[in-house]
Amino acid sequence: MLNIRVEKTTAPKVKPDYKKLGFGNYFTDHMFLMDYSVEAGWHDPRIVPYGPIALDPSAMVFHYAQELFEGMKAYRRADGGVQLFRPWKNIERMNNTCDRLCVPEIPAEDVLQAIKAVVQTDEDWVPYDEGTSLYIRPFIIATDAHLGVHPSHTYLFAIILSPVGSYYEAGINPVKIYVEREYVRCVKGGTGRVKAGGNYAASLIGQKRAEEMGYAQVLWLDGIYRKYIDEVGAMNVFFVIDGTVVTPELTDGNILPGVTRASCVELLQKWGIPVEERKLSIDEVIAANENGTLDEAFGTGTAAVISPIGELFDEGKHMIINNNEIGPIAQRLYDAITGMQWGKKPDDMGWIEKID
Ligand SMILES: *Cc1c(COP(=O)(O)O)cnc(C)c1O
Repeated sequence: MLNIRVEKTTAPKVKPDYKKLGFGNYFTDHMFLMDYSVEAGWHDPRIVPYGPIALDPSAMVFHYAQELFEGMKAYRRADGGVQLFRPWKNIERMNNTCDRLCVPEIPAEDVLQAIKAVVQTDEDWVPYDEGTSLYIRPFIIATDAHLGVHPSHTYLFAIILSPVGSYYEAGINPVKIYVEREYVRCVKGGTGRVKAGGNYAASLIGQKRAEEMGYAQVLWLDGIYRKYIDEVGAMNVFFVIDGTVVTPELTDGNILPGVTRASCVELLQKWGIPVEERKLSIDEVIAANENGTLDEAFGTGTAAVISPIGELFDEGKHMIINNNEIGPIAQRLYDAITGMQWGKKPDDMGWIEKID
């Protein structure tokens, strides 16, 4: 149990227009902070007014990227309450990331307590409009003022909150994806399986080029054989081939274990729809597209939940999937997951954690 000190702002902000939120543009009135030192462990948990953090220019995070983050949401229920979706999965993943990056772990129940406390403090920022939510961004940075290369001895854990708009204002539109053959996102033994900010820095160049060419995201292939599918942009990826749902297996450590990915797999299993976690090569997807058995493709992640893929572009070839429309499995998963998240459907999986 954390003993969280609360310092409320004396100057609450004017709330943004909830119809025009977009993603990550606005931040709430408060943030959660907690420090780490070797002597005191994780200490001084506090909720304070949202604002700049002062750091020494030599703070290790600026030089060697010892940083990690999480991403989850608080949802306004139909009955006016507020709830989280599978927060324990995010917290477990955060601690796995800590372990990989030599950052001291934080007890899971303390992290959940901190998330709940800061969301409760800014509860009036959880938007009511259809499809909107309060994005929760916990992160940890290495703060030692020192340029030697070794794990930091001091850290800052922070949680900031951002009201975000509906991902699909104009309905669910399938996206065009560029198959990246030159750059890779990660390799076996690297940090692909954890949520490290450095992974994103490494992926920007591929993403930028794809966007310049008119594609929404990159399809990443594995870094060794350059043929097995890893992920799409910052989402996990699913293909429906001849009625079977296939998603890349997590075993090689190249793939971020998405909470949405796990939820899709568990729902498909419950519905009795065949689902396989295995290696899947780009050649198999191309062949399935050519012989007419590639029924659907979609990405999964907290931001969009399900993002159907309407077109894959690879080495001069344009592959249109499901007539550039959302497929029945993608739609069913989207409706089931968002139904639970916004409290419109009963939580028959035990995935909801109510805050209020
Ligand atoms: C966060 C993330 C995902 C999606 O995970 P969710 O828990 O479903 O939001 C997928 N891939 C990468 C690289 C990510 O960083």
